[in-house]
Amino acid sequence: NGQESVRVRFAPSPTGNLHVGGARTALYNYLYAQQKAKSGSSAFVLRVEDTDKARSTRESEEAVLRDLTWLGLNWDEGPLRQSERGDLYKQRAQELLDKGLAYKCFCTDEEITAMKEKAAEEGKPPVYSGKWASASEGEVEEMIQRGEPYAVRFRVPQDELMTIQDAIRGEVTWNTNTLGDFIIMRSDGSPVYNFCVAVDDADMSITEVVRAEEHLPNTLRQVLIYNALGIEPPKFAHCSLILAPDRSKLSKRHGATSVGEFKEEGYLSEALMNYLALLGWNDGTEQEIFSKDELIDKFSLERITKSAAVFDKQKLNWM
Ligand code: GLU
Repeated sequence: NGQESVRVRFAPSPTGNLHVGGARTALYNYLYAQQKAKSGSSAFVLRVEDTDKARSTRESEEAVLRDLTWLGLNWDEGPLRQSERGDLYKQRAQELLDKGLAYKCFCTDEEITAMKEKAAEEGKPPVYSGKWASASEGEVEEMIQRGEPYAVRFRVPQDELMTIQDAIRGEVTWNTNTLGDFIIMRSDGSPVYNFCVAVDDADMSITEVVRAEEHLPNTLRQVLIYNALGIEPPKFAHCSLILAPDRSKLSKRHGATSVGEFKEEGYLSEALMNYLALLGWNDGTEQEIFSKDELIDKFSLERITKSAAVFDKQKLNWM
């Protein structure tokens, strides 16, 4: 019916509290979805990225959900947990194997280490150069018969330029040569982070990925996986870093940086939301106080600033 349908997601790793950076990412996704809901349809999906079993806790997931709720950032779908989606990742990996877009790699850790050392000595990128990229079916079958463990490796097309249009950064281009055939399923059967993200974003029909700049290097792998799955990649918007007033990376030593701490200190959730919205976004005017409805109306991905934002708690104090 010509109406725009937008699906965005916030995908926290439940390995600690919700920090201002994550809260800002969640807020931008929320505002965007709310705005699009007015003229078409939209969904804000909450996905819990808990595949790292050693670092993820249910306690941390609960804390993140509680802080999102306190901020008023309600999601439409989820929480969907990656730890409960193992079958989907296996299925997708099998599809790529069947199409020859991935292959079984029986290299041992020692062989991989030797390959990396050789590449480093020759000043080359650590690109997989083992025999399994071109092994015959017979060779693979023999190893399977012997019960040898294998990882599933994604076949990276060589010497191709991949370009994305980032809503904030503009055109970003990579050469696939910088990337070797990378593992998507480990030999213990567990899926690798970038594979889960791309499979999930595709499966959840995500149309815009709005996230922190630190994830930009992952985008090349994710777009390659999308292409291999035969699904159009989403649009991307990578938000710049948040720095402390001294322009160093924002950390604990700069005082309260988690949403929970602000809540305990008695800040109003509306004040924090307003502050987070303006931390790297503006509507092009000098306006500094926005209601939630105004933020929903005025927000746009294109007006997220390209330069790093400075988190200055002093500015929050007088609100
Ligand atoms: N789980 C990632 C994080 O917490 C987010 C990944 C993404 O948004 O693609 O930083």
